Amino acid sequence: MSAAETQNWFGHDVAPGESLSTELVVSESYSSRNVSIPVNIRRGLQPGPTVFVTAALHGDELNGTGAIRTMLSDKEWSLQSGTVLMIPVLNMLGFERHSRYLPDRRDLNRCFPGSASGSMASRLAKVIFESLIARCDFGIDLHTAAVRRTNFPNVRADLSHPDCRRMAEAFGSGIILHTKGPKGSLRREATRAGCPTIIVEGGEVWKVESSVVECMTRGIFNVLMELKMMSGEPDIPDTQATIRETKWIRAERGGFLAMHVSPGDSIVKGQAIATNSNLLAEDQNRLEAPFSGIIIGMTTLPAVQPGEPVVHIGRLSNPKSVRRHEKQVAGDEIQRTAHEHLATNIQVVEATVEEPRENAD
Ligand SMILES: [Zn+2]
Repeated sequence: MSAAETQNWFGHDVAPGESLSTELVVSESYSSRNVSIPVNIRRGLQPGPTVFVTAALHGDELNGTGAIRTMLSDKEWSLQSGTVLMIPVLNMLGFERHSRYLPDRRDLNRCFPGSASGSMASRLAKVIFESLIARCDFGIDLHTAAVRRTNFPNVRADLSHPDCRRMAEAFGSGIILHTKGPKGSLRREATRAGCPTIIVEGGEVWKVESSVVECMTRGIFNVLMELKMMSGEPDIPDTQATIRETKWIRAERGGFLAMHVSPGDSIVKGQAIATNSNLLAEDQNRLEAPFSGIIIGMTTLPAVQPGEPVVHIGRLSNPKSVRRHEKQVAGDEIQRTAHEHLATNIQVVEATVEEPRENAD
């Protein structure tokens, strides 16, 4: 195999085998200074694909930042071939405000591929898209749940795209959701532009959660091994659940929730999810699972009004696949740890009182 050639990234030559930390200027601030994002470029000795790993595209979603920083301080791994771009904070303006959004209240993850003559967000998106994304062959974008919610670690990808599917399966989170992503999102537009991209969702905003970071770093290394950029055997769970339908179960009444499930739980149709009671703990109503599946996300705020989201269920076809998934999680240390760890933030109580189901119409 011929040796890789020197590449130029943002004005710096990066030779095969080198690692360079630098910055990409993406905009200008109110104080007329440059707004830039830090990037680490790591190269293998052999030629190979270029992969981006991004975090904090929503500026308050920091588990991915923690995962990339863990990889940056880990001296134990090296690339054999290709190039990895690690970007711990993509949305610097949001990050500086501990906010999901840009200062103009736009969601950067709805602005790709961007435009040179558009809004501030749109121009920012264009610089990122052209300077970084368009030069990559594959992408992994790391997210968390939105405020007041948490997610059990899961991968989301367009499974009709063979390379997205390949990366999603190689990542090995244990749960793969088939979705193309919203219009203007980084992964949808990157995939469309020829850079197949998956996202990973795990944990809460404003935190670096160790069990989520472990799942993310394992998955990134797994993908790099799958792409033959790193040596070693990927650590992938024996079976993984593929989810094609999800549903948010919403509160029917105002009140305070006693949760009967925690993130990552497997549930069967009709199982009690939460009991909603008034502040004196008198029952208002009980929410039940409309189908069998996995709790992929849930609220962390127990006080709800009618219509507010309580749990996000990923549908599994039948109780047999629920049992298979439960066994799979129990046999995989990283998912088992995440399952135990994420439950410690939520008071989970047994559903004791049987209530007749309300008539659905
Ligand atoms: Zn996000």
